[in-house]
Amino acid sequence: MEVKLNLLIFSTVLQCLLVLCVAQDFDFFYFVQQWPGTYCDTDQSCCYPTYGKPASDFGIHGLWPNYNDGSYPFNCDSSNPFDESQISDLVSRMQEHWPSLSCPSSNGTTFWSHEWNKHGTCSESVLNQHAYFKLALDLKDNLGILQILQGAGIQPDDGSYSLSSLKDAIKGEIGATPYIECSTDSSGNSQLYQIYVCVDTSGSNVIECPVTPSGKCSSSIVFPSF
Ligand code: 5GP
Ligand code: 5GP
Repeated sequence: MEVKLNLLIFSTVLQCLLVLCVAQDFDFFYFVQQWPGTYCDTDQSCCYPTYGKPASDFGIHGLWPNYNDGSYPFNCDSSNPFDESQISDLVSRMQEHWPSLSCPSSNGTTFWSHEWNKHGTCSESVLNQHAYFKLALDLKDNLGILQILQGAGIQPDDGSYSLSSLKDAIKGEIGATPYIECSTDSSGNSQLYQIYVCVDTSGSNVIECPVTPSGKCSSSIVFPSF
């Protein structure tokens, strides 16, 4: 009887510890999209993918597990490296929505592999490789950030727009404030580079960001054409 009771207590404690470990993996995701026109403006050069110039749309940069204090885990599991055979059914969507613009030209595999190995392995307690990449693609589709901006008259036309008009337009549609990252163009103007949306650990809900990166855009920012 006593042995049974001890076993029960032991297994309950073990379960609690396991839940705690899983729960402490990370606190939320940053879903980060990059504007290709700015990537190509800012870096010395950019190179279009081997399969052609991407559409004039945001591209996925990554889905990054993060902690509430602003720090983040990375390179969490070298025993589970990127394996393209696990996402073969997603590759055409990946090429369209997650193009790599770094040089030399590539088909994207190196970028996706970097993102999985650095960030994706840190959420493998909730998402396997297929689920991780599918979630990012679905978030991109469901959020429709470019459509939201265009609906508010904000276009990639090299014009200047107020930072608050971008944030308000996006918040009005998705229900949470995005974090906007800017870079500086050759004339010294602040320009739209990346848009961060925070997502809960299940990947199902957009949330207000518990913490944001520290950079600042000017109050008026350029939206470069691409
Ligand atoms: P940078 O130094 O260019 O802002 O970021 C370089 C890389 O560090 C990013 O592409 C990303 O992999 C990682 N990184 C930078 N800031 C954050 C952050 O706040 N959270 C997470 N999870 N990763 C970040
Ligand atoms: P991070 O650590 O910043 O998430 O990953 C950025 C890494 O992916 C860098 O090594 C960068 O050279 C590579 N990379 C390849 N293609 C792209 C791209 O289109 N955008 C960005 N930001 N990085 C890319």
